[in-house]
Amino acid sequence: MPTGRADPGPSGDRAGTEAAWRLVYGEFAPAEERLREALCTLGNGYFATRGAAPEARAGRVHYPGTYIAGCYDRLPSRVSGRTVVNEDLVNAPNWLPLTFRVQDGPWFAPGRFPLLDYRQELDLRRGLLCRWLRYRDDAGRVTAVDQQRLVSMDDPHVAALRTTIRAENWSGSLEVRSGLDARVRNRGVARYRGLANRHLVTEATGADGELLWLTADTVTSAVRIALACRNAVDAREVTRRETRDEPGWIARHLTVAMSPGETVTVEKVVGLHTSLDLPAVPPAAAARRSAERAPCFAELRTRHGRAWERLWRRGRLDVGGGPAQRTINLHLFHVLQTVSPHTAGVDAGVPARGLHGEAYRGHVFWDELFVLPFLCLRFPEVVRALLRYRVRRLPAARRAAREAGHTGAMYPWQSGSDGREETQVLHLNPRSGRWLPDNSRLQRHVGLAIAYNIWQYHQTSGDLEFLCEQGAETLLEIARFWASVATHDRSSGRYDIRGVMGPDEYHDAYPDADRPGLDNNAYTNVMAAWTLGRALDVLDLLPPGRRDGLRERLALTDDELARFEDVGRRLRVVFHRDGVISQFEGYERLAELDWEGYRSRYGDIRRLDRILEAEGDTANRYKASKQADVLMLFYLLTADELRALFGRLGYRLDPETIPRTVRYYLARTSHGSTLSAVVHAWVLARSDRLASWRFFLEALDSDLHDVQGGTTAEGIHLGAMAGTLDLAQRCYTGLEPRDGVLRVAPTLPPGLPGLAMELEYRGHAGLRLSADDTGVSLRLPLSPRPPIRVALDDGPVTDLAAGRSIRLEPARRDERGRTGRGNR
Ligand code: BGC
Repeated sequence: MPTGRADPGPSGDRAGTEAAWRLVYGEFAPAEERLREALCTLGNGYFATRGAAPEARAGRVHYPGTYIAGCYDRLPSRVSGRTVVNEDLVNAPNWLPLTFRVQDGPWFAPGRFPLLDYRQELDLRRGLLCRWLRYRDDAGRVTAVDQQRLVSMDDPHVAALRTTIRAENWSGSLEVRSGLDARVRNRGVARYRGLANRHLVTEATGADGELLWLTADTVTSAVRIALACRNAVDAREVTRRETRDEPGWIARHLTVAMSPGETVTVEKVVGLHTSLDLPAVPPAAAARRSAERAPCFAELRTRHGRAWERLWRRGRLDVGGGPAQRTINLHLFHVLQTVSPHTAGVDAGVPARGLHGEAYRGHVFWDELFVLPFLCLRFPEVVRALLRYRVRRLPAARRAAREAGHTGAMYPWQSGSDGREETQVLHLNPRSGRWLPDNSRLQRHVGLAIAYNIWQYHQTSGDLEFLCEQGAETLLEIARFWASVATHDRSSGRYDIRGVMGPDEYHDAYPDADRPGLDNNAYTNVMAAWTLGRALDVLDLLPPGRRDGLRERLALTDDELARFEDVGRRLRVVFHRDGVISQFEGYERLAELDWEGYRSRYGDIRRLDRILEAEGDTANRYKASKQADVLMLFYLLTADELRALFGRLGYRLDPETIPRTVRYYLARTSHGSTLSAVVHAWVLARSDRLASWRFFLEALDSDLHDVQGGTTAEGIHLGAMAGTLDLAQRCYTGLEPRDGVLRVAPTLPPGLPGLAMELEYRGHAGLRLSADDTGVSLRLPLSPRPPIRVALDDGPVTDLAAGRSIRLEPARRDERGRTGRGNR
């Protein structure tokens, strides 16, 4: 298509709908380019490529990056007089490079010539990144460019870029350069620049007919990455065809003759394989085959579009239009580009920052707690595969527990390739320029998130096989760790968990303490008690033969199970004098922070920890949290479950405790993590619908408007993205799969007129759920499967047979005293 300004799209109602599927930028803005690159990343769960301009090289404005799920490498660096070793998600060779020049002039780049028109559009529905631009060069020649790219959701090893160049008012030679570049490094995050970043060694480059190829090996992990590309020029005659290479780089130069009004189209079709692939085929040959056999761009786009159509059918979440709809679509798009059905064929976990950048080095934290519950009701097969990432690292977690003097499995706070602890030992405070000890590995609660997800997956899917094979073993080993960590206090008869960190990363030690760690973090203790209870339940769920076999294999004696029971009933929870659940023992004695003073002095105080450290102070001294900590309990468990759990622990959770605790921490949280807004929106959903809505909107803005000020450019926040989807899916509908019953209890916030979605539940695909303020409708498609059991809130359970629908309407809504997932 001749280029110029893009068609602004249909008008009227449809425009509203269409707008929900597009992210559009109408001008080139160098200062925003890196943010846009992250937001316009294309991926398929196997690999992803940032939305960098094809002609761009890494620098101040641009940062091209391609990341392959599970592809890590480890390098030593000297920091502050010490050698530290860091593992990174490797920035793979860049497949994008493509630029051109007219009559041997300078190569095209966006900043080089005045742009007459520019438009970039991410088409979420079809998974395409499109760019239209026109520019005038120094000789007055006007050239128009129309580009589309995709990272195939149909064939995970294929990506493609189609470029159409139009000579508007000139004639002469046009030389197109299309290359593969392995000279890239991991340089996407300024804070890490002092660290070693060269993960690739080029193994070979080559050209063969239409094909170019390049292979590179990662330095320590010895993963071979192979890229091949096929460059095809449409009908016109290529007057010169050359291949140029230098170490780490190979390019094809194609020259054509142009006349005014003429266009030329170049298609670059890329194959990408690694030695991590299954089946294990030599990657270079596999990449060449992929590039050779892939069809033309139009056909690739059709197949890719169909694959996305199938994904959208399963994933789509209708929030009634409006601006929220587009962000919801964007969030789902990026979640599915990071973890898709293709991820099921790879040994990879849930990277906290997607496959979209290098922040947190592509590591896997506890953020799957915000991702998997959403996916359980949509893509259970993907969840099972992601849980297997943890299962495969059970031996490493066992080893870590043993080395720390415990039994069971101690999962690392940050996980990468082999399941060892990847948390750095020093981190940089960019505000003070100081390297400081990083104690965040003491967030042992990560194992509790894994246990929670195993249980949640089983509740939703009913998949007993996974439990029998691996799920139960992993959960039991996590429980075993907590039973072994807890120490008995004779005087009170309680068990304590000492020396850990909770989710709030501002607190890693007591003020003036000479060693890190805190005692009796409420979130950790209560979830440990919950996990110990589930460990006993899970044994009951297994068929006797499998249970006995597992117990024998794990040498799980009656005495040890009795200890699970005992610790699970007597872990300590500390309360403040007014009944508020204490974040940890001693929290009440900390100083109050002058919130107003800090806000007025610094404006944005999300990273209060850095501000205080730069002032020579420490967040450890204050009643101030980076993110939800105690409130995580109300996020994960219903008030009913909590009451029962506290009751089992011998504490009474009176009705005022939850709202009082919410108010207390709400006033003392800076929301320095994007996860915090998700949790707050959730816990306020029933007690303060307006406040919940505001937090929901903030969570929706997290990446689109980069609310943390510069962090999104380094990678999206996958937990917050999935968290917003889950707010709409489970929180505002009150959807809760528990003990074989699917319960609903809608409480829609103002601004969300209705919700509609199709879920997968207990082997039924396409369970249609729609909710509005008056109730919920469920429709189960025809199938030979047995009925499912549904209920409104705590009401009676009804069977819903395949092919039938049901409407469930609450009699009245009680606005007062309901919190989070409900005081059910
Ligand atoms: C948060 C953690 C989170 C991590 C990765 C941190 O800022 O405090 O809770 O796991 O980011 O997303």
